[in-house]
Amino acid sequence: MANLRRLMNKIILLLIVVHAVGFGQQDSSQYQSALIAGSILVEGHSLEYLRGLTDGFGGRVSGSAAYQKAAEWSVSQFRAAGISDVKLESFTIPNGWERVSARAHMLAPLYRPLQVQSYGWAPSTPAQGAKGEVIYISHIFAQDRIKAHADNIKGKIILIDNDSFSQDVPFLDSRYMASKRLLKELGAVAILVRGSTDNNVTMSWNDTWGGMLEPLPIAEIGMEDGKLVQRLLENGSVTIEFQCENKVSGPIEVNNVVAEIRGREEPDEWVLVGAHLDSWDQGTGAQDNGTGCAMVLEAVRAIAQLNNAPRRSIRFVLWGGEEQGMLGSLAYIRLHASEMGNCIAALNTSSGAGHPQGWTIRGNNEFKDAMIPLAQSLTGMSGDRLKQEVRFEELTDWASFFLKGVPALDLWMDMAHLSEYHHKPSDTFEKVDAHNLALGSAIVAVTAYKIADQSQSISPHLDQESINRVLKRSNVYETIKDLIDEGALK
Ligand SMILES: [Zn+2]
Repeated sequence: MANLRRLMNKIILLLIVVHAVGFGQQDSSQYQSALIAGSILVEGHSLEYLRGLTDGFGGRVSGSAAYQKAAEWSVSQFRAAGISDVKLESFTIPNGWERVSARAHMLAPLYRPLQVQSYGWAPSTPAQGAKGEVIYISHIFAQDRIKAHADNIKGKIILIDNDSFSQDVPFLDSRYMASKRLLKELGAVAILVRGSTDNNVTMSWNDTWGGMLEPLPIAEIGMEDGKLVQRLLENGSVTIEFQCENKVSGPIEVNNVVAEIRGREEPDEWVLVGAHLDSWDQGTGAQDNGTGCAMVLEAVRAIAQLNNAPRRSIRFVLWGGEEQGMLGSLAYIRLHASEMGNCIAALNTSSGAGHPQGWTIRGNNEFKDAMIPLAQSLTGMSGDRLKQEVRFEELTDWASFFLKGVPALDLWMDMAHLSEYHHKPSDTFEKVDAHNLALGSAIVAVTAYKIADQSQSISPHLDQESINRVLKRSNVYETIKDLIDEGALK
């Protein structure tokens, strides 16, 4: 009987110890998280990082001198935060491109300067410009419609408009590229795409992914100017002179910036935290995606400052090539293919700096369920909401990891006002709300730390069948297939 009592006492003591240790771990993770969030919200550097990137380097087009300088600056910021394991990892894109200038004038039936900006990865016109009558083609995808104009295309400037393809996914569609090549074969001298933003504001982007040169000089013409040209064409011919200079090169190296905090117990397992460093160039890439980069840099600073690494490693990566089809993150998953099984979650931040909401789950129900308790701990940072979806419109670097089955999270910020700035000259530092940015940094940092510090992986990897099922349910599958066809994934 006495032996039994002693045994019972031992069991009770053991249970108390096990409970205390278990509680202690959870408590420690919570305590470290509070220190991280406190550091970011009270003595944070998010806004300084953002200003350094946007005002310091301007637009950061992949492969440009400005991009490279921003990548080197990022290395120095990671080091200044106390990270010794920082490196540049290069990948090659088929062509380099930098904007120099573009201008256009309507010469007849009336004289008028026109608002135009070159698309990315478009070649220059001859130095004297391209001059020609304008032909409007309403359905650029339909090659037979183009062929119907075949005798009338040589020497002409082709006008197309967003309306004819906005419901489709033109810039990823191989039919679009084929149509542009056909226009070149038939002797067109340039393409003008009518914009869709009020006040003749032009966007910056390339309408074909993969970092490959366009077949012809191609530019956006402001919406109001484009509509004027279309109306004048109803009454007769319109002649435009279009001059565009861009710096283009052959294959060029672009660097991802990679930093790591080694885990204290299971360093070979890792959580990825990423944001794309490249941007467009009419603005200075503030909300697309200086804010995401600032959150990553700030997360590194706050976590490194703890001097108490989480159980697993955290890798922080600033990507290049996102605007050309998430080329940096695709290069990363190829380079690190043998380690992808050890990547337990991938966090992406590239949704601007509206008010934070929480996380978008790019994974399955199991992953969402596992995230619920963690999300609840983000309530004070306005980061406790979870939604689960995979949409083409939100395709970015998280998708590279999702394709490998890694449970992926995309920071969910209110994007109601993002289109006012997105890819526009107004995407600049002063539009960013410091409070929202700091909250975003805190959500990213605490989520990364907690996932890396959990005793178990947050959720199993998805198998190929589930990945394909999710991709096919959205229209992402066709997009990815297109990227493969165009050579970007080879
Ligand atoms: Zn963008």
